[in-house]
Formats: sequence, C-alpha cells, structure tokens
Amino acid sequence: MNLFKKVLCCSILIVPIIASASELPQSNSKWYKDADALMKRVMARGSNVNKAKNVILLVADGNGVTSVFATRIFEGQMYGKSGEGHELTYEKFPYVSLSKTYNSNAQSPDSAGTAAAMVTGVKTRQGVLGVDEHLERTDCDGVPQHALPSIGHMAQARGYATGVVSTARVTHATPASLYSQTADRNYEDNSKLPEGCTGQEDIATQLIDSKLDLAMGGGRRHFIPKNTKDNEGKSGKRTDGKNLIEAWKEDGGQYAWNDQTHSRLDLKGGKILGLYESSHMKYEHDRTGEPSLAQMTKTAIEYLSAKSEKGFFLMVEGGRVDHANHATNAHRMVTDGVAFSNAVRVADEMTDDSDTLIIVTADHSHVLSIAGYTKLGTPILGLCYKLDKKGNPTNELCTGADGKPYTMLSYGNGASSVLKKDGNGNYTSPNGRPTLTQEQALDPDYNQAALIPRSSETHAAEDVAIYAKGPWAHLFQGTVEQNYIFHVMKQAFQF
Ligand SMILES: [Zn+2]
Repeated sequence: MNLFKKVLCCSILIVPIIASASELPQSNSKWYKDADALMKRVMARGSNVNKAKNVILLVADGNGVTSVFATRIFEGQMYGKSGEGHELTYEKFPYVSLSKTYNSNAQSPDSAGTAAAMVTGVKTRQGVLGVDEHLERTDCDGVPQHALPSIGHMAQARGYATGVVSTARVTHATPASLYSQTADRNYEDNSKLPEGCTGQEDIATQLIDSKLDLAMGGGRRHFIPKNTKDNEGKSGKRTDGKNLIEAWKEDGGQYAWNDQTHSRLDLKGGKILGLYESSHMKYEHDRTGEPSLAQMTKTAIEYLSAKSEKGFFLMVEGGRVDHANHATNAHRMVTDGVAFSNAVRVADEMTDDSDTLIIVTADHSHVLSIAGYTKLGTPILGLCYKLDKKGNPTNELCTGADGKPYTMLSYGNGASSVLKKDGNGNYTSPNGRPTLTQEQALDPDYNQAALIPRSSETHAAEDVAIYAKGPWAHLFQGTVEQNYIFHVMKQAFQF
C-alpha cells in the first residue's frame, strides 16, 4: 500500500519518501529549526488562571497591523539587525487575537468609541465616552441616564490604585475613556460644553474630580483659564476662571510639567498630575524637555505599586502614532511606535507574569499600505528595490507604470495626495508623481504619497491585533469584538 509513491510515479519532481521528520531535507534549515522550537514551546505552555493583582492596558493609538509591521522593520534595522526577522517587545507575547474595531454606528471607528468599548465592555457611538450607544452625540443633558462605569471605576471602588499615561492630551479620547463620561470627546474644558448643560462636567474637571492616583500626558491648556499662562508661556482655554492645576495641588496632589519636575516627583507622596505640554506632548523624534512614554510608564508603575497593596490598573497610551499617520509622516509614526514598544518593555520588566495581565493593542488602524516587491533588507521608510530574474538582490529601483520609483509606504488618502488643487479648484496631477530620490524619501519630514486628497489622512476599518501575557491572557484567541478586552480584564481581576 503506497499511494504516495503511486501518485508520484509520473512526476518529474524528485520527492524523497520520508520515514521520519528528522530525515526531511529541510530539517537542517534555520527556518525549520526555529519554527519547530517555537511549536514545542507553544505545546508546553500552560494556562495562567491566577487572580490578577495588576492589569496594564497599553494602547498605541492608530497602530494598525501595517503600522506595527513598519515599526518592526524600522526598529530591527535601527539596531543594525534584520528588520524582517525582528520582533517588537509585544510581538514576543504568547497570546494574540484580532480585534474588530467598528463603533456601534460606524464601520470605520474613532478613538472615543473604540476606547469606550475596551474599558466599559460594550460598543458605543463615535465621539462619546463612558456612555452607552443609545445616547446621541452632544446630548449633554442625557449623560446621567446613559453613563457606564469603566474598568478604572470598578478598580477604584475595590481599593485598587489607578492611573493613566499618554503622550496625547490627558483629556483626549483614549485616556479620558478611563475616567470620564461625556456626550462629546471635544468637551475637554468648559468652553466647549454646550451652554446650560446639566448632565456632565467637562473632561478636565472630571479628571480632577476622579479618584485617579496618577495622570500624565499633555493638555495643560484645558486645566487653566484663558487669561492665565502655563509654565511655558502658553494660554489656557477655560472660560470659567478655574485653575484646575491649583485645585489639584490644594487637594494634596503633586504636579510636574517637564522632565526635571517629573524626575523630582515623590513616588511615595500625594497623587500625581503630570502635564508636559499645552496640547499633545512632542513626537518622540522631536522630544526635548519632556519625559518619554517609557519613563512615564516606569514612574506610574512604581507609584501605583506602592499606592495600594491590592494592586493597580494602569492605562498607557502611545497617543501620537495616530497623529503621525494622520499627517502621512511615516518617520514620526515608526519612531513613536518604537517609543511605545519601549514602554511595553518597561511594563513587562517591572511586573511579574504570575500576577500581572499585560494587554497591548491599538484602537483602530490607518489607511497605510506597504508596497511590493522589494528585496529583503530594504529600508522601510525608503524606496522599493528590485530582485533580479534569478531572485538575487539588485540596487535597481522598482518603478511604477509611469517609470518613476515608489516608496515602500503610502497612504490611501491624506494631505500629501498625488492630486493637487489647481487654480480652478480642481484636483489634478498634470506632471504626474515627482521622481523621488532615496535621500528625499528618508528625510524625517517626508510625507509619504497619498491617493485621495484630504486635509488629514483617515483611520481605517480593518481589525487590529491584541497581544497579551499574564493571568487569563489565554482568553485572547480568535477574532473578537473590541469590547471583549474589558471582559478579559474583569475576569483576570475577578471582579
Ligand atoms: Zn486619529
């Protein structure tokens, strides 16, 4: 009985008949050995069903799978290693799911509806936080009837320490999802609230009134009055005359506004507010005078660990991967992506897998695409380079049908569209695409080409990844709704 042999009898391929795996001709290959070793590690994996003491949710805003891929290649190449074979910190985590990110009313989501889904356990509309899907956006008076507690509120009620860290404004959608309930993400200070609104306070006021032990990020302007200048000479936005930074301090809180005051925080002292910019913190590429996301994460974990014996919940947002994508500036996107991966590393190193659930994800993706058919080792931010007919690398550029080179990364839409507005208000491309050099493409300020003209590049609708380790991380399997993340955190905490 040898069906295999029979099938092969008339083939010109020479396929050896194998008695055991060790005889496979490919079994000496590095690819084979690495994959086999990984499979054995996965087979040996047990499930961690401990009660989590701590849960850390790290969200890189807008860090879709294409952005993660570009960041992986960039970081590997930055270290002088293979980009393709590299792994970002969180790509080494044992469990992965895909997260369906749509909002209850939108196929392609925004950061408010998505963050709300992750921390409350239910999907909701675009633009709202801490409320169910039945509240219409801007229905300020309706908030109390539709308000939902977040995992942060639940942790606080049970005596856990809680904190939030972001490189965006602390009042921006993702961080605000943890502590606020608002009919519109734009109500960051009182000047944006509808006149006569009775249902809610503005987001900055909600932060100050929350029981958060620590909040760090940008957004000073929403905490101080219009006629008041902040530590860097920039005016506030509030029209109610309130200085919420002073209110925080009067309530026994500590305040930091740059990297030096950050480094002097008493990690055994009163609650911490760090506001390091008037608006968003700087991109990692441009960062001076401000702590890094990894430094803020370190401070947060040290502080929160000491704060409550029960444990803590911490949300960390890499807020500006999203902004760099909106700006079609891939260099700042990947450098902020590396800074985010460094923050994950710090969180992982400072905690123990036996008692800390770490979840790494994105809220949504972007219309970033990665071109073919470049040779291995091509700088991810630069131009595409060909293989020859025999499959060997060349120094010849890939070209489009127009005979011009193209970059590895491009966007489906954005301000750097190949179509430009002419004197009649029409969008055309009379001279076609520019003939780019590698030097131009690798400039940190280069904006990757986009197709459809838009003032700002848009989010994309496809799934994003969830990476997890620690107690109950094995519950991340398959393709799940984004609001499932809350349910795993709740299970891990055993709330
Ligand atoms: Zn965005």
